[in-house]
Amino acid sequence: MDFHLNSTVAAQATASYPELFALAGQNPNLSWLEKAWWTHYAYWDNDIIATGIITFLAHEILYFARCIPWIIADALPGLFHRYKIQDKKAPPSAKEQWSCVKYILAIHFIVELPMIVLFHPMMEFFGLKYAIPFPDLKTIAIQIAIFFFVEDTYHYWLHRAFHWGPLYRSIHRVHHQYAAPFGLTAEYASPWETMLLGLGTIGPPLVLGSFTGEVHLMTVLAWVALRQFQAIDAHSGYDFPWSLRRIFPLWGGSDWHDDHHRYFRGNYSSSFKHWDVLMGTVAGPRGKKMRKEE
Ligand SMILES: [Zn+2]
Ligand SMILES: [Zn+2]
Repeated sequence: MDFHLNSTVAAQATASYPELFALAGQNPNLSWLEKAWWTHYAYWDNDIIATGIITFLAHEILYFARCIPWIIADALPGLFHRYKIQDKKAPPSAKEQWSCVKYILAIHFIVELPMIVLFHPMMEFFGLKYAIPFPDLKTIAIQIAIFFFVEDTYHYWLHRAFHWGPLYRSIHRVHHQYAAPFGLTAEYASPWETMLLGLGTIGPPLVLGSFTGEVHLMTVLAWVALRQFQAIDAHSGYDFPWSLRRIFPLWGGSDWHDDHHRYFRGNYSSSFKHWDVLMGTVAGPRGKKMRKEE
């Protein structure tokens, strides 16, 4: 990796994180995050390991951190019950949440970790960038918007196929164990489902990167983080007056995906509503009403 910094390889081989960070400071044009990024790659001196550590840690920390507000909301029904979508059902017990955490950790280590280790060679093969400087915010935002729409389309059709009898029984049944989902259940799925639906998240950056040569790993990490937040929020079981769907009507959010778990048929997309509306697969009484009006 070419860092465009006046450092010697000898210094990299023995230096600690703070020493390398100070060295990165020689370049006044770098942001704090770019210095930290350079430090991390220089410290490990092995790009596959360095990418694997950032990607896996980011995934674990962000997943469980984003679930904490929902665990708190379930523990404080006096404050939050009024925002609960399926308010007749009892909130998940501590035992249920703990068994969900154990299953998800197993999926993360057994299925996602190997995919993460393979990601660096795949990323290099498809021509993604990971050297500093980072792309500008506008490029990052446009690419992430593209990834959201492409993933949503892929997710809609594959998820709809998963509801076909044989695929449902062999792949998708695990995810429907909870008819009233909670934040932690976002990635509660069989290994096959994790891999096949996961392709919708990592595939679009690889394809766009191979055509344009302008996709950076930082953009991929930001995209994966936002996609994780989307999935956790959609499974939270809570709909707030300040939920994104109220500002941005195309956004499905928990109000949309909760109905998928509750009624089992319909609302197959991940982030947006347009595919279900166009294909007449809106779930529950809302869908019935829409189809009658047509
Ligand atoms: Zn489903
Ligand atoms: Zn779900």
